[in-house]
Amino acid sequence: MSKNVLVLADIRDGELRNVTLESLAAATRVADGGAVTAAVFGSKGKETVEKLSHHGADKVVLVPNPKLDQYTTDAYFQTFKQVIEKVSPEVILTGHTAVGRDVSPRIAARLGLGLVSDCTEVERKEGKIVFTRPIYAGKAFVKKAVREGTVFATLRPNNIPALEADTSRSAVVEELEVEFAEDSIRTLVKEVVRKASEGVDLSEARVVVSGGRGVKSAEGFQPLEELAGVLGGAVGASRGACDADYCDYSLQIGQTGKVVTPDLYIACGISGAIQHLAGMSNSKVIVAINKDPEANIFNVADYGIVGDLFEVVPMLTEEFKKV
Ligand code: FAD
Repeated sequence: MSKNVLVLADIRDGELRNVTLESLAAATRVADGGAVTAAVFGSKGKETVEKLSHHGADKVVLVPNPKLDQYTTDAYFQTFKQVIEKVSPEVILTGHTAVGRDVSPRIAARLGLGLVSDCTEVERKEGKIVFTRPIYAGKAFVKKAVREGTVFATLRPNNIPALEADTSRSAVVEELEVEFAEDSIRTLVKEVVRKASEGVDLSEARVVVSGGRGVKSAEGFQPLEELAGVLGGAVGASRGACDADYCDYSLQIGQTGKVVTPDLYIACGISGAIQHLAGMSNSKVIVAINKDPEANIFNVADYGIVGDLFEVVPMLTEEFKKV
């Protein structure tokens, strides 16, 4: 039986995040002929309609209210709830991003729906939609299907490939006006302060070069930044490096940091504690550089280099520059 699927678009600085395109790809897999609708919030949403159509959206519900330009829990919750009531989807998908992680449980609780979070795969099997998600800090995977009612899930970025753009597609667009009752939005974003060094978004980066306590200082991150720059990637870190004040906590990867699934993860001077592995062990290719041949990181690495990162990383940078 076909299913109508609703995908919440995740827009950052006016740009669609890749995870939205990945969610549309997942939606087309499970819709089986049903309509795929994208919900787009904020005054810049209109600019994303073409891209959404090319990547699988049959319909787009636009809510162009400027109060939705910056994410706030109250405004998004009220709007998303109204869109869900309007579209009556059988399946709801969001990215497992800061936005999806915040708004989805609230919606699920309020509407009495179950929520399968942080899914890395989705398929249709014997009429059921089956999600795969990591458990035990990424050591095992569990498959889950929702037996009845609306299926609601968040999808981990970088796991389900987006569809190739089909420029012949165009979606039916509908605008929805949402009014917010006075005092119903209890928070206001006054200013967004970004780090000067902020480049590629860590959680969506295809390549992550990560440093641990072995990097030894804030300056020690410089060669890692150069390597990440040459590879078009982002820099990450272990909690060891963050705790030692070598870098900002926004770079932390792991159980209590960000979860990343890049095509290539290069761990430099990281021992491979279970809490770190929880955030990166599903990366497609893992390269570990460590002086200690017994370091646990080598147990999850596809390629291991036993050596001093201050010698190995610059060598890699020079070689990649030639490619
Ligand atoms: P270390 O374990 O000190 O390892 C440093 C490594 O660098 C060593 O293997 C050493 O051989 C190598 N090295 C040293 N010099 C060089 C050199 N010149 N060249 C090459 N290699 C070198 N950790 C996380 O990362 N993310 C989390 O989200 C996280 N959450 C946690 C939550 C809880 C509740 C707890 C208790 C812990 C958590 N931790 C987390 C901490 C985790 O247990 C480890 O302490 C931490 O990951 C260690 O960081 P590290 O590998 O950088 O440091």
